[in-house]
Amino acid sequence: MIYVDLHVHTTYSLDSSIQPKVLVDRLHSDLRVKAAAVTDHNTVKGYYKVRELAHVYPDILVIPGVEVGTVNGDIVLLGVVEVPPQPWTVESVIDFARERGGLVVAAHPYREFGLGDLVGKYPVDAVEVLNGSCSRQINALAEKLAKTLGLPGVAGSDAHRVDELLTVYNEVQASADLDDVLKAIKGGRLRVVRSETSIHF
Ligand SMILES: [Zn+2]
Repeated sequence: MIYVDLHVHTTYSLDSSIQPKVLVDRLHSDLRVKAAAVTDHNTVKGYYKVRELAHVYPDILVIPGVEVGTVNGDIVLLGVVEVPPQPWTVESVIDFARERGGLVVAAHPYREFGLGDLVGKYPVDAVEVLNGSCSRQINALAEKLAKTLGLPGVAGSDAHRVDELLTVYNEVQASADLDDVLKAIKGGRLRVVRSETSIHF
């Protein structure tokens, strides 16, 4: 079993104040959540920096990712170490991830910049059903969508501030290995968890 926050922004996202070093320290000190996907807006630079800093901690797993702002809404790619070429359409971004063995997550579908009901038109691998910055109602709609589409639901804090890190996370039936974690997510072998410190729920 591994506990993972699948949606984190570092200072490589213009709207986040989380220094890569602070994310690593937070994972190091947390007793439970030792893995996080770095999903900065339209860049993977934050992932590389966090990975470099986490290198000295064998218990931390850093999952590569990127949140791509397509013309129709945000998509989180997991297991991808490059940014797709522009223009970013939903189709081109999904194809890009597929070719690289990455996973496609419909981020906060019913919040601003979400894909909304359009998610059903595209071959995504999972729906973000618990986003740390969304209200309970907005997350409930996403949960319903995942059920309707028969897709795994995942959680991500979508942290942009240090106190938002790891407020929600996933209990994944996998070892601390990237491929193993991605396979488990795709297969729906996970459960979303709200931490006690999470204020939104
Ligand atoms: Zn985000």
